[in-house]
Amino acid sequence: MAVLPILSYPDPRLRTIAAPVKEVDAEIKTLISDMIETMYAADGIGLAASQVDRHIQLIVMDLSENRDPPMVFINPKVTPLVEEKQPYEEGCLSVPDVYDKVERPSKVRIEALDADGEAIDEIAEGLLAVCIQHEMDHLNGVIFVDYLSRLKQTRARDKVKKVLKIREKQSQQAAKQPEATNV
Ligand code: ZN
Repeated sequence: MAVLPILSYPDPRLRTIAAPVKEVDAEIKTLISDMIETMYAADGIGLAASQVDRHIQLIVMDLSENRDPPMVFINPKVTPLVEEKQPYEEGCLSVPDVYDKVERPSKVRIEALDADGEAIDEIAEGLLAVCIQHEMDHLNGVIFVDYLSRLKQTRARDKVKKVLKIREKQSQQAAKQPEATNV
């Protein structure tokens, strides 16, 4: 298993449209474990393959408090079942430290394959409905900040730049002191 680098907004690769998975083979299974590890390492609740620069229709998710077995959605199809939209404060591992309200249909049907290639067909509401629509957007090259105003998008861009700079500095400092921590 490996933690994969996550693409950050506004990386143009995040705009790639994901292709369907042809077969759930060993390579896909490795990618699934790596994506789950990456999601946990980043403290996320969902991750689309697009975010780790793999442009196939694959999503991993764990909405549980205590790390239940994570959910895997392959070639998902999401259909809104109601017209009513509800606002929810969203965040994204590709847009670190930016949170804002997005309105989405509150009830959807999810059809997909799971990690074993078995069919999933379920009705989702609440956080699962929000999250699956957010991740589906990634597979279609859409990021949640696209729903916000121009001004908020500019602010998000600046914020991400700042966060990445701080992270880079922290990792450089951590790399400088390995001997000290070994003593
Ligand atoms: Zn996201």
